[in-house]
Amino acid sequence: MRIDIISLFPDMFSVVGDLGVTGRARRMGLWSMHTWNPRDFTQDVHRTVDDRPYGGGPGMVMLAEPLEQTLDAALHARRQPIVEQPASPPIAESASPPIAEPAPQPDMPDATHSSTAEKGDVPIILMSPTGRRFDQAMAQELAASAGAVMICGRYEGIDQRFIDRRVTHEVSLGDFVLSGGEIAALACIDAAVRLLPGALNDDDSALQDSFNEATSGLLDSPHYTRPEVHRGLAVPEVLLSGHHAHLSTWRREQSLALTSRRRPDLIEAARRAGRLSKKDEAFLQKLGHNH
Ligand code: SAH
Repeated sequence: MRIDIISLFPDMFSVVGDLGVTGRARRMGLWSMHTWNPRDFTQDVHRTVDDRPYGGGPGMVMLAEPLEQTLDAALHARRQPIVEQPASPPIAESASPPIAEPAPQPDMPDATHSSTAEKGDVPIILMSPTGRRFDQAMAQELAASAGAVMICGRYEGIDQRFIDRRVTHEVSLGDFVLSGGEIAALACIDAAVRLLPGALNDDDSALQDSFNEATSGLLDSPHYTRPEVHRGLAVPEVLLSGHHAHLSTWRREQSLALTSRRRPDLIEAARRAGRLSKKDEAFLQKLGHNH
């Protein structure tokens, strides 16, 4: 999986590129990341990437042209055969070419061209509060794919003409407004990369998580570790019993109880998908969750 990121703050991506599970997965070669800064694709001395909005109003808007050229360079690079294995550089590699020399754009169509010609086979995802809310299914889809180009807006947003011409998907992290798309992109990348086979030490652990198969899309059950008694609170007895059937019943019931309390919508979804057993339904009945 290859992720190309278009951002005015490429340094932010060392968080997924270098640290923790995602950093280790990258060093293992399970995925690669390339950052592209629109500032490197400006032609003026000030390296301008934004301007005032037409029609007035507060704030600034990201210029379409530097984004067009940045995206062309990223797509061009994706089409190149891989020459070196991204084995172990400790920091996120920046793939930006020198300022005065933008990457070649052999197949950049005429700027007045209609939009469809500009949209290739790799998803071009704009992080945006007006997009579709990101979820585990989207993380799985991304993890199963060859990757994407992710565009991070700043200021009031991006000139709509660039979005109309080039963007194939708009993705939101949730119903709140961030000051830039970077944190949203980081979250999406992290959620996808940890699903790549080999990324987690135990591949089963992703299945056990909330929203996943083994939990029928429900919330995860609680976890405990040593010591057996923490400040007077003991670990639930069943976890120490070594009785597998009791343990899995306990986990399932914890999961059902928590989900019906916090996210009844997920119980409904699991029921509609036929993922609740008779035993599950009986337990929910006992909880007083009758629909
Ligand atoms: N004026 C816009 C918000 C701009 S915030 C509006 O009200 O809809 C600046 C940038 O941050 C956006 O272009 C987008 O890339 C990013 N961003 C903000 N909130 C986000 C969210 N919830 N999910 C994904 N990206 C977001």
